[in-house]
Amino acid sequence: MDVTAGNQTTFEQLGLSAATLRQLKTIGYEHPSPIQTALIPLAVTGKDCIGQARTGTGKTAAFMLPCFEQVDTKLDSIQVLVLAPTRELSEQVYAESKKLAGNLKIRFALGVGGRPMGRQIDDLRNGAQIIIGTPGRIQDLMKRGYLKLDDLFIAVLDEADRMLDIGFRPDIERILKACPSDRQTLLLSATMPPDVMKLAQKYMIDPASVDLSEDRVVVDTIEQFYVTVDEDRKLPLLLRILAAEKPQQVIVFTRTKRGADKLYEKFSRRLKSERIACIHGDLPQRKRDRVIKDLRAGELRLLIATDVVGRGIDVSGISHIINFDIPESCDDYVHRVGRTGRLSSDQNGRAVTFVTLAQGGELTNIEKRINTVLPEYQVDGFEAFQKKERKTRNIRRFGVD
Ligand code: AMP
Repeated sequence: MDVTAGNQTTFEQLGLSAATLRQLKTIGYEHPSPIQTALIPLAVTGKDCIGQARTGTGKTAAFMLPCFEQVDTKLDSIQVLVLAPTRELSEQVYAESKKLAGNLKIRFALGVGGRPMGRQIDDLRNGAQIIIGTPGRIQDLMKRGYLKLDDLFIAVLDEADRMLDIGFRPDIERILKACPSDRQTLLLSATMPPDVMKLAQKYMIDPASVDLSEDRVVVDTIEQFYVTVDEDRKLPLLLRILAAEKPQQVIVFTRTKRGADKLYEKFSRRLKSERIACIHGDLPQRKRDRVIKDLRAGELRLLIATDVVGRGIDVSGISHIINFDIPESCDDYVHRVGRTGRLSSDQNGRAVTFVTLAQGGELTNIEKRINTVLPEYQVDGFEAFQKKERKTRNIRRFGVD
């Protein structure tokens, strides 16, 4: 499936300049994706906009192309700031933006932690007009006087929900307060919890809203299942599912960093020949980069990840998501499952969520959120065990005493 499937709108209809249109042709973008169709015409007018869409839907171009239209390439100062929750996402946005800009003569800087500051400072000194980065490093560059926001006229908050989850609210507020007040603000978020709405109310003026939310994508394009399991049988169950599904690439989500490490250890002992890795926030940046690179190159078949890091992964080969631990929040479920069935990949994805007996209520909350009752995943050899579980679950689901 491709990101523009079924969309007959043309880029010419979206109010983009001839130079941008030529550039899009050069990189082979023929039609806009739905989020691009909806957001670009609003954002090019300079209006504040809220776009509800996830990574993988073409949202980078949706907010970046309107920025390109407005950037003055003769001016050697930062005019656009994009804040993103993680280094990985920032780097992804940076790479995609550079590809999009091609020979438009726009200069970019990347402002992320875990990387030497020298190159970032050089890019700013060399007259970058657009900076993309994480709130910590962006503030660092501001405090040290390398990043000046006087000429800024667009601030973009990418994956705003995740930035707030991580606890970046005070940083985002400080940065927005340092931006000129007559700027345009674009906010992108996969979900719209009250915290994000509050931020929008406080820092945006009469924003236009575009909703291409992940919930719908998740429901429409990804086959989802639950499976009941005792905590101590999760690993054998996982191995069975992997044997049955033969995934092209799979991400196994755990709730905690420790859980991820433990599972990785057990896994490596059992499957020595498999190409597996583990990624979470405690891993040094170098290792995280390596893992993502290997995943993208198809060298990894299985990745164990926690929510914060897993969220930034946008790789087209992911065919399966296993929620080894049921996610803590319904939003996390939507984000995790959204890692598969990427719009740029050829196949729909499959997601299986492990649910212990005590977690029935959490599963129901997820089902309410995505407005779908998940079918049960059948695994040979686990039936006897499952039958017992199913009975209990049916009582919970249908209120039978
Ligand atoms: P994003 O959601 O911005 O991460 O984009 C997901 C993928 O879709 C990236 O690989 C983009 O290069 C690609 N993409 C975005 N917009 C288009 C388009 N209009 N036509 C073809 N590919 C696109």
